[in-house]
Amino acid sequence: MYSVLIRNAFSIALSSGVIGFYILYGSTPLHAQGVSLANVDAGQCETDDVYTIAIHGGLTSLDGNHETKTSYLKPLLGEARSSLASGARAIHVVEAVISRMEDSGHYNAGKGGIANQDGVVELDASIMDGRELKAGSVAAVTSLRNPITAARLVMDKSEHVMIVGPNADSFARDKGGSVVDDAYFLYGGMNFSDVPLPADLAITPADENVSSDKVSFLGAWGGVSSEGDLNHILVVEEIQDDRAKVIYALGKYPVWGEGLYRRLDGVFVQSELKIKEPTDLGGYTLLYSLNSNDTLTLTATHPSLPNGKTVMTRQHLIPASDNKSGTVGAVVRDRCGDLAAGTSTGGYRAKTPGRVGDSPILGAGTYADNETAAVSAAGHGEFFMRYVVAYDITAMMKYTGSSVEDAATNLIKQKLRTKGLRGGVIAVDHSGNYVMTYNSDGMIRGVASNSQEPIVAVH
Ligand code: ASP
Repeated sequence: MYSVLIRNAFSIALSSGVIGFYILYGSTPLHAQGVSLANVDAGQCETDDVYTIAIHGGLTSLDGNHETKTSYLKPLLGEARSSLASGARAIHVVEAVISRMEDSGHYNAGKGGIANQDGVVELDASIMDGRELKAGSVAAVTSLRNPITAARLVMDKSEHVMIVGPNADSFARDKGGSVVDDAYFLYGGMNFSDVPLPADLAITPADENVSSDKVSFLGAWGGVSSEGDLNHILVVEEIQDDRAKVIYALGKYPVWGEGLYRRLDGVFVQSELKIKEPTDLGGYTLLYSLNSNDTLTLTATHPSLPNGKTVMTRQHLIPASDNKSGTVGAVVRDRCGDLAAGTSTGGYRAKTPGRVGDSPILGAGTYADNETAAVSAAGHGEFFMRYVVAYDITAMMKYTGSSVEDAATNLIKQKLRTKGLRGGVIAVDHSGNYVMTYNSDGMIRGVASNSQEPIVAVH
């Protein structure tokens, strides 16, 4: 009965040229369901007793709650440590650990991958074996559950190093990679290709004067009309005290034709965010309230609506904090003394469709050479490509005799920092020495070794 009333309200709203929405998507629960590290073959590497694994979950800002991302790492490192202790190979452990992070939904990789401007999740990944410099990578794949496994399939089952786009999807599928549909991805399960957003969209973390219930509105929210033909994205870009700056963006609709967006001001009235729609779009007063299940409910008041009200729910497209980060990576030294590295990412929020970052580019975001080090990067991919960061670290080691720590720290904290380039790397050398260094506010990271219980850190 209630839903019939709501539906009627929407029909009236739509037929009178004003906007109505209702719930099409609920929020998806997070399930960690990845490849078991227990399945990684033991007893392959027992030359010595030294092993090290370092992993990262991307760069972070100073504020925000990183608990979900960090708490996932510790037990994972514990499992990886046991595998390495029992003689697993570096390359297998890298793939297994990254695929678990992809499946967790906690990072901008695999299931949690952040959508591009078209609302499509395009994922990049690469893996490299330091023994013979064998490597595989995929870019801009859209249907694979584990891009890192697809990269491994390119390495093991093709004559190539990199395959991109739909051909990479079909290559991996044909070789046994697991395929998922759009609904699998937490932040790209909806296609908003007809909703334009400004290129300078930027979600600014709130300062300490803003209460946490208001901060939770920050981010991008998507909903679909009752008829399924009107997409809408609300982006809360900035909150200061009781005021918010928002982008109100709508898909194609007969009344206004092509999709459009407007930057509007919002104001908090108690715990509701109030926005006045421009008159050409209907002139509603929109009230948004946040539910505990991570959805926004909209109440729109307008004289032409029965009882002056309608309701919709919007799913959070991008996590309120850390919306730009969450690339994952792993570097391993196993008991044979072999090195391997891998990196997997959704790239950047609202990236240009087809954009490929550093993560699948060997030498930029990922590199492994038994003679020097295994490296995985996080940060502004365009610069990591131009500075060939991962390879440069190994080159410094090779040609100047630098330690892995000096080579990585000098590059990240000095050379790149002085140029204003934001990023970090994890690296491990042939002897199991590791470094985890960054020049931003923080990097989700962790390490474990034969002599080190798992530890994780952010700042
Ligand atoms: N390096 C990734 C990319 O540019 C993004 C990141 O690490 O945050 O695609």
